[in-house]
Amino acid sequence: MPELPEVEVLRRHLEPALVSRRITSVDVLLPKLVRPQTAAELSRAMVGSRFESVGRRGKYLLFQMRQADGQGVQVVGHLGMTGRMVRLPAGVPLPRHAAVVIGLGEDGDRFVFEDVRRFGRFNLETGPVEALGPEPLEEAFTAAVLAAALAGSTQAVKVRLLDQSMVSGVGNIYASEALFRAGLSPRRASRRVKRAEVIRLHQAIREVLQEAIHEGSTLPLDSAAGGEGLFYYGAVEGASDFYQERLRVYDRAGRPCVACGTPIQRIVQAARSTFLCPGCQR
Ligand SMILES: [Zn+2]
Repeated sequence: MPELPEVEVLRRHLEPALVSRRITSVDVLLPKLVRPQTAAELSRAMVGSRFESVGRRGKYLLFQMRQADGQGVQVVGHLGMTGRMVRLPAGVPLPRHAAVVIGLGEDGDRFVFEDVRRFGRFNLETGPVEALGPEPLEEAFTAAVLAAALAGSTQAVKVRLLDQSMVSGVGNIYASEALFRAGLSPRRASRRVKRAEVIRLHQAIREVLQEAIHEGSTLPLDSAAGGEGLFYYGAVEGASDFYQERLRVYDRAGRPCVACGTPIQRIVQAARSTFLCPGCQR
């Protein structure tokens, strides 16, 4: 499931591929993804406009467009669990699970949102973005902000980190990785995390995200999957090596800890898998 780094890498690929392109058509093949708008409403808002920028907030992509009359349009995209975004040249068939297909003009290029499991979204609603907590890689996210968010909470620290109103973009993979790097048990009650540990955790969150963005940016997404131009590094050739080499605890149950050799444990918290080293994380 894509988290902040995967979405940021995707954003960096999409922006140059889309900016200044004029939208000539919008076809919605899976209406669920554009709710509460209808296909006709989304099409009316977008057709005729040009892409100005592709931004990101947490795990959301923010597509900014402008109509010829100067009116701004913003579409909020979310990959859900399996979403992928593709720029397809003319003549290349649509992927089987194409959900939204945006025509980019006379050369026949299309921008396609594909979603096998249909948990993604692509609509005009900005509410979910407004409810997000601070961006973990921006200045506003300080150790003091993290300390305040943990203080007084009886939730396990790993569960608390997944709360997008506390800090945005951290999901299951990078929460596990950051807690390992900080030497902190995911089971610890948030309010019992000591000051020095908060500082380590704050630094660890930023490091794991920054490193994943950096590494993900080196993968050749454009040429992936036989030149289909699949943009999303969780899905490209080389990505599985990337995850195996970079991740120290996530999805490594039973394998030796890279630091102390203790077998990595998998536990379930709030119905999600957590991976930890019982030797290194207290
Ligand atoms: Zn260990």
